Amino acid sequence: MPYFMCPNCKLRRSIVSGAESLGEEPDHTRPPCFNCACDQTFEMRNDYFPADATAFVVIDSTDTIKVAGSELEAFAGLSSADVVGGNLYEKLALSAEQALADVREHDARRLEQELTMRNADGVEVTVWADFFPSPDMSGDILVAVTPV
Ligand SMILES: [Zn+2]
Repeated sequence: MPYFMCPNCKLRRSIVSGAESLGEEPDHTRPPCFNCACDQTFEMRNDYFPADATAFVVIDSTDTIKVAGSELEAFAGLSSADVVGGNLYEKLALSAEQALADVREHDARRLEQELTMRNADGVEVTVWADFFPSPDMSGDILVAVTPV
């Protein structure tokens, strides 16, 4: 069953429209999160259970950061205001070039990539990263980063 993940507070929200059982096109409209103010919930094709420390970042097709979850500040010192609107590589220095190229080429998720990123102090840290392309053809990708 498709569901939407809030990239800010990680709340899951299932939407049962019945469209698919009727043979209709599934509705990809992103519902707002009812736990926080985020209106950029992310449709997930598969079940995914992030760790408590996992931070979500949503990027668009040009690697611009659209949403950054609250956990990013907890382990990297980077608030949403610091990074949203900026480029993924400039703001986080996440070594995700190959993973993102694979995700875009195959329109498929990539899991458990051991990568590096840069925290607010300019220190390179190792993270596990998972990548999920949006099923709605927007080109958005949900990136889940978890400190090692
Ligand atoms: Zn939320």
